[in-house]
Amino acid sequence: MKIAKDGIFPITKDQHGHPLPISPASGLDIPGTIQGEGKLCGVPSLFIRLAGCNLHCCWTLPNNVQVPCDTSYAAYELQNVQTKSVNDICSLVLQNTDSIRHLVITGGEPLLQAQELEQLCEKLKKERKYHITLETNGTLFDEKVARYIDLFSLSPKLSASHSSCSGKPLFSVTTIQNFIRFASSCGKDFQLKFVYSCKKDAEEIRQLLSRLQGWKPEDVLLMPLGATPELIRINTREVLTHCIRNGWRYCDRLHISLFGNKTGV
Ligand code: SF4
Repeated sequence: MKIAKDGIFPITKDQHGHPLPISPASGLDIPGTIQGEGKLCGVPSLFIRLAGCNLHCCWTLPNNVQVPCDTSYAAYELQNVQTKSVNDICSLVLQNTDSIRHLVITGGEPLLQAQELEQLCEKLKKERKYHITLETNGTLFDEKVARYIDLFSLSPKLSASHSSCSGKPLFSVTTIQNFIRFASSCGKDFQLKFVYSCKKDAEEIRQLLSRLQGWKPEDVLLMPLGATPELIRINTREVLTHCIRNGWRYCDRLHISLFGNKTGV
């Protein structure tokens, strides 16, 4: 599978259980970190970051600062991508999750590698019955992968992400509805997590939600754009206001306040 550089993180052992020569970027001498965003914010987790994305996001903040995708190294700047087999990824995960039950599969867009992802999830579930979160931009649905997922974290990209040349949001209502319908029919959870960068985002979110069924306001999370506390602060007040008005959840980026703007944490 194609994974981002150091795409299984944070870890302290190789796939055979031998200690790695360098400590994880978290600065802690143990494998694992916490989920920094969403319904499972604060839950100890290990991340698997797959490489490649079908979108190419870049935002412009109200102060005209351009903010690229904060995981561009996993999405479209792919010079440091690694290839690992399903078995090797699984071994690395097993060696680094003594007390960790939650795995987060993220990207990039993980469902671009749906076939191998299905094999990986099947193997991981068989080995330890992990709780698996799938972080996806919601443009691709694959039922064979979905069977193994416990929490679908859908992050549809709005027009301000400049993912689409037409200026329209780049998501399919049908695809997002498929995720929600599947989650509801199997007793799994989902969240709709939106990045907020400017005023028109809130209206686009309301329009999207009006076309979807089977969600509750507390399934909707709004998160200020930015990978640093300074950038996050620009939109914090507006995000709070929209959340309180609409009953949506305010979504923090706890890993940034805990570890700073770093990869691998
Ligand atoms: S969809 Fe996500 S991973 Fe892909 S380019 Fe946009 S922000 Fe980055």
